[in-house]
Amino acid sequence: MNQYKILVLPGDGIGPEIVNEGLELLKQIELTDNCSFDISEELVGGAAIDAYGKAIKDETIEIAKNADAVLWGAVGGPKWDDPSSPIRPEQGLLKIRSELNLWANLRPVKIWGELINASSIKKEKLENVDILVIRELISGAYFGKPQERREKNGKREAVDTIYYNEDQIANVAHLGFQLALKRKGKLHSVDKANVLESSRLWREVVHEIQPSYKDVQFQDILVDAATMHLIRQPSDFDVIIASNLFGDIITDEASMLSGSLGMLPSASLSNLSEEGKGIGLYEPIHGSAPDIAGQGIANPIAMFLCIAMMFRYSLNQETIASKIENSVEKVIGLGLRTKDISIDSDNPVSTKEMAKAIIAEYKKL
Ligand code: NAD
Repeated sequence: MNQYKILVLPGDGIGPEIVNEGLELLKQIELTDNCSFDISEELVGGAAIDAYGKAIKDETIEIAKNADAVLWGAVGGPKWDDPSSPIRPEQGLLKIRSELNLWANLRPVKIWGELINASSIKKEKLENVDILVIRELISGAYFGKPQERREKNGKREAVDTIYYNEDQIANVAHLGFQLALKRKGKLHSVDKANVLESSRLWREVVHEIQPSYKDVQFQDILVDAATMHLIRQPSDFDVIIASNLFGDIITDEASMLSGSLGMLPSASLSNLSEEGKGIGLYEPIHGSAPDIAGQGIANPIAMFLCIAMMFRYSLNQETIASKIENSVEKVIGLGLRTKDISIDSDNPVSTKEMAKAIIAEYKKL
């Protein structure tokens, strides 16, 4: 029997709704796949601010460090949106990413055949689209110091800092080249080297590493051009590496290729070597979706695909990962659609109905 310690952090808004369905999937896996899960659950984000006055407790980080994997729902919402507040829900997420050294954020963007109509992009543009975005996750604009508000001559001003050192860039570059070799052999490195010094260093370091990967077809691309090309010809891309900020933005854009933010999972990892895979945190790329929270209509697929990634990258159980992905594919093929992907269906299903259908398919495999 394989035993795993999983820390579950549902968060706010639709976070708990999709995480609860993910836990139902884990119950099914316990019944059929010779696994058992020791699950702990903690508050994060706005829920933790309400309960403890901070977005994540130090004890929660300690539990995470001793877990095999962490499942994150989403945090944030209008209740905690006061821009002048020094305590914000996202601090919990930034803190856990940084404390667990989760520098590599893998964001696969896949077109699910039958869902092609849910995308706002023309069908023919979506053929052969299969992209992996690797976003640097613990540096750049989200962590650089100073990051502050101040006053000068009676006027408000604010400053953020984009910081990168060569080791951080090299880690992302090596990972990008290595994963490109296992896929279609193409790598785009996104930067803004015509304007930003941090991007010029990014480009320089990537170019120093590139000769070690002669079999990879490599191209730099400025971030503004990248956002345009992603829509113009998405099938041109295979693996994309990007800084924290640029990776965040281009993957939300790329989610529209799949049809909905509710379809995209992500894995945040500290170590991808075969000998010692580190702790991983798995979270959908979407946020807490306050506009639909509490209505039972959120798409749980991104969360299910996160669980598949958890089995692949942290628990070393490729068969279970593939079974989950096949179950999602099957249910999409059967025509079930939550509201966000229901362009060609008059009868959208609820979060629960979608989750139950996927679990039922899983049981059959
Ligand atoms: P969002 O991703 O929450 O929602 C954007 C749009 O996508 C909304 O219309 C929403 O209804 C829809 N959507 C998102 N996930 C969906 C799902 N699973 N099923 C169906 N529809 C879905 O982005 P936002 O509205 O800009 O942000 C809301 C809050 O989430 C903010 O407080 C933001 O800071 C936070 N946020 C948190 C995370 C995180 O916890 N990792 C990530 C992004 C944003």
